[in-house]
Amino acid sequence: MTIDNRRNRSKLLVALAALLAFPAMAQTVKVTPLGGVDGEFCLLDRALLFEDPNGTRILYDPGVTVAGPDDPRLGKIDIILISHMHGDHLGGARAKAPGSGACDKPDTSVSAMPNSNAVDIALAKNAKIVTGSEMPPFFAAKLKANGGNPANALLARFGGSVLVGGVRIATVNALHSNGVDPDYIGGELGQAMKQAGIAGDVGLATGYIITFSNGLVAYLSGDTGITADQDLVVRGHYNAKLAVMNMGDGFSTGPVEAAYVINDLVKPASVIASHANEVGTVNGIVRPGSKTETFQKAVKVPVYIPRSGRTMQFDAAGKCTAGC
Ligand SMILES: [Zn+2]
Repeated sequence: MTIDNRRNRSKLLVALAALLAFPAMAQTVKVTPLGGVDGEFCLLDRALLFEDPNGTRILYDPGVTVAGPDDPRLGKIDIILISHMHGDHLGGARAKAPGSGACDKPDTSVSAMPNSNAVDIALAKNAKIVTGSEMPPFFAAKLKANGGNPANALLARFGGSVLVGGVRIATVNALHSNGVDPDYIGGELGQAMKQAGIAGDVGLATGYIITFSNGLVAYLSGDTGITADQDLVVRGHYNAKLAVMNMGDGFSTGPVEAAYVINDLVKPASVIASHANEVGTVNGIVRPGSKTETFQKAVKVPVYIPRSGRTMQFDAAGKCTAGC
């Protein structure tokens, strides 16, 4: 045996010993985008499906591209997260089937009013809806009105957290708005609000911090501006290693601002671009001149593009180990 071989062998033994000592760290969290067109990153793509190594499945911001509770891509859903009440996240309308629209023209032909796509999915899957701010009573009322269990609407308000299915969920501040469309309210009150041009109030918009059972901490930004909390709380306290960063511009941080958030404030190991409000890829390749490209070029850590149906896997350190 040469010295090099011996060295390699001892390295291998050390790695093996580490795996045996910390088996959770070797496990990965699977992230599968449920977008509008298979293999692409499209205009209204928001939904991500997270699967913890323990089997717990979490649907984040189902929006319009998940084709309701019967969408075969969903499977078992244990938890639904909704960053805020806007229709492109909650799902005021939805596609009739996966892939039924075009990348620049998502199919929103099925109305999900007055319940929302998220609530329809929660009812069918008996999933828990974990939200912050003052959103849980809205979801509890919707579940109850439709024969579901209002106790499935759980609160995780800023600074606290809940443990659901072995996964710890906290919310963080998102600098955005969070009005409830009067169409979810309906009746005379809904009509009057609509005429007056005002939305319902369910408190502040949120992002999420998820701590998976393998130790991976993920930051889901939601729609947000630049906040001091991204440094002080998301990095300083939670030390998030994977970020899902919205960068749609106009409504929230654009690609340049989002890159600053990642490079200088959150400083994760990896980031998944999200909420581009554009055709982000063509034939699975980032479109030249797109916001997605601007973001990818400006960020110093690896930026992964959420191509619908393509599962990525992340270890405890936030490193992509497969599918990226
Ligand atoms: Zn949005």
